[in-house]
Amino acid sequence: MSQATPDRRMAELSAYRERQVELVSQHGRRSARGNWHAHARIGIMGGTFDPIHNGHLVAASEVAWVYDLDEVIFVPTGRPVFKLDKRVTNEEDRYLMTVIATASNPKFTVSRVDIDRPGVTYTIDTLRDIRAQYPEAELFFITGADAVAEIMKWKDANSMFDIAHFVAVTRPGYSSKVPLPEGKVDMLEIPALAISSTDVRERARNGEPVWYLVPDGVVQYIGKHGIYDEQ
Ligand code: ATP
Ligand code: MG
Repeated sequence: MSQATPDRRMAELSAYRERQVELVSQHGRRSARGNWHAHARIGIMGGTFDPIHNGHLVAASEVAWVYDLDEVIFVPTGRPVFKLDKRVTNEEDRYLMTVIATASNPKFTVSRVDIDRPGVTYTIDTLRDIRAQYPEAELFFITGADAVAEIMKWKDANSMFDIAHFVAVTRPGYSSKVPLPEGKVDMLEIPALAISSTDVRERARNGEPVWYLVPDGVVQYIGKHGIYDEQ
């Protein structure tokens, strides 16, 4: 057996890693479900997350399963363009609740791109920022069926479809009457939960329980900081 010095071992390891990266870029990669994909597959779940609730988490988890995603990035909005006339909770509270809610899922991560970008949040900017971070990945923007009806009103709608696939998940109580852009948006029927952030805020404000509508850590965060007490 050869006596490798630490330096030599490090050099071997780094050569091995480089070779792995080269193989992946030539031949693709194997997902957790055992399928080969040419590139990483990444979901983007944008939302106000005021607060994040189990409906968001189930939707992201289901899309990750069906589309064989490696990761879902939750992106809390900065100043949401369609809620400019409404009071929205401080972005750091919304960001922290999103981190707490997603921490236990190894596939879920949280990005600050929208809250760190000054001004109103437009989804096209979110997509461009994530694309810059993952030039090679296949991107999937996840949205609720209610939000997708608005898509064509979104800034630079057509360039968004060049950057990412769009997956619209069904949501109880919302039916899209607006025709979707032909072939641009997948509709996915999921076992969606009849939960909205609006209901959660209202319940918290009235002192009603929000257990099991949002993850345990978020229940505690809302109580500890009293974030919906005064609205
Ligand atoms: P609000 O009531 O304040 O509008 P919300 O519950 O709609 O909050 P958002 O942060 O606006 O939550 O939603 C982010 C995204 O998640 C949107 O695309 C929305 O359609 C989707 N979504 C929200 N709730 C659900 C749910 N229960 N099931 C599936 N998708 C959902
Ligand atoms: Mg909403």
